[in-house]
Amino acid sequence: MTILDKIAENALKYPDRIAYYTERLYESEIRAFYLTWKELNEFSDKLAAWLDDVLRTKTPIIVYGHKSPYMIVCFLACVKSGRAYCPVDISVPLSRVESIINEVKPEIILTTEELPVKKENVVSLKDISAILQKEQKIIDRKKFVAAEDIFYIIFTSGSTGTPKGVQITRDCLDNFINWGKTLGSGLKAERHYTFINQAPFSFDLSVMDLYLSLYAGGTLWALDKKIQNNMKLLLQSFEKSGANVWVSTPSFADVCLSDKKFSREILPELELLLFCGETLTNQTAKRLQAAFPKAEIVNTYGPTESTVAVTEIKVTPGVNEAYSPLPVGKEKPGTWILIMDENGQEVPEGEKGEIVIIGDSVSLGYWNNRKLTEKAFGKIEINGREYRFYRTGDKGYKTNGLLFYCGRIDLQVKLHGYRIEIEDIESNIMRLSYIRQAAVMPVYREDGGVRSLTAYVSTKEQVRNSFEASQTIRSELKQFLPDYMIPKKIVFLEAFPMTNNGKVDRKALGGLVQ
Ligand code: AMP
Repeated sequence: MTILDKIAENALKYPDRIAYYTERLYESEIRAFYLTWKELNEFSDKLAAWLDDVLRTKTPIIVYGHKSPYMIVCFLACVKSGRAYCPVDISVPLSRVESIINEVKPEIILTTEELPVKKENVVSLKDISAILQKEQKIIDRKKFVAAEDIFYIIFTSGSTGTPKGVQITRDCLDNFINWGKTLGSGLKAERHYTFINQAPFSFDLSVMDLYLSLYAGGTLWALDKKIQNNMKLLLQSFEKSGANVWVSTPSFADVCLSDKKFSREILPELELLLFCGETLTNQTAKRLQAAFPKAEIVNTYGPTESTVAVTEIKVTPGVNEAYSPLPVGKEKPGTWILIMDENGQEVPEGEKGEIVIIGDSVSLGYWNNRKLTEKAFGKIEINGREYRFYRTGDKGYKTNGLLFYCGRIDLQVKLHGYRIEIEDIESNIMRLSYIRQAAVMPVYREDGGVRSLTAYVSTKEQVRNSFEASQTIRSELKQFLPDYMIPKKIVFLEAFPMTNNGKVDRKALGGLVQ
């Protein structure tokens, strides 16, 4: 059953259940916005019928906004009318919004917030409400996007290079969901789950919570940016949510863990925590296990180009003891991961190389960019069937079927002739018990070479004398690292800058483009 059939079925089964809930802060007042399953399905059917009537082309549609329930109505309306959607959150910088519009050249832009650039073809939330009131028709199922049609295009955040529109087909999404629903102990049919959504919809991590919730007939509890930035309101929102499933970056969990109240006391029903997008450290996993002793923690790995995630591992206390750093796990069915050297040859087990993903959720490639698509993607036959593959630019190795992530190939630097992996230093700093978070940045000379390394760290207890503390860190690191890998300078931070997607913002830390 495809996701669109499942949504229709859920709307019939649970018409009055809340499908989507969010809260917004207006000065000092909090207001709730939500849609029931019946509303979500009917509104998207009607808006799809309207799109089908007024649009002349099948060009993807940009949906601009922030966590409004009507963003989901728009997403579904687009695909029900046979068109891909391209979600853009208000946190996307203006120049990026403009370049996305220039790339996609949408016939229409659906908005739930005011678009920061003037465009003729904008349909506002007010217009959408008027259309929903007037429209009598509902869309014919035959118009829905087909298996190999593009379902959505997400422009990558730039954390791995220049922004590129990753095209995900309906089949990719269905294959992802069919695996996603089995994570942890798996989602049970007929149970009402509430999912926490942290990521903005322009970040593909949100696909995990949004579509697993839509698949399960659940309630998506979406956290508005302003609420996320206010610990008191955030904790209140968690408490109200009664959430069962958590989806976020590890960095966001770290932010929440900085308040002792973040535990099963306020989220007693939480049973599954899903992570993706960044390294889940042993320390974060341990603290989560202590805060939510009954919940399952699952680490997943994958780039936007392979539909959110393609590997998984349940991080039990045993796994956390056995591995440091933690593995990112085993491939999902229909996916194969190969580790390749610079010449495209597979390396022996245990050796590091580039992670290459082959499988049924690998993207068609980049929107309107044949050159970059050909560089990163290709096709290969496995068991008589053709699959797409994607060269991730991530470094990793495999042992006993488990994949270990070792950072980006492009985060490798040469210092005094030594090849150094930045994340290698970071994970060793994280082994020091008093460190909460760490990021290492190269300091460049004018000629582009690396002059030295600086480590940015936050500690569990406040540091009184930063000179002495840096000396301690540097000397303790000698247990784990050769001298040339020990950062020359240590900078103490209370909190790390984060990107809009909730990952550590390396760019803001000191000029190294991630
Ligand atoms: P994005 O396409 O923005 O989701 O970023 C994908 C990149 O995030 C991957 O290519 C990895 O470099 C990184 N990433 C994703 N999942 C993990 C994970 N579980 N552990 C470490 N890094 C990850």
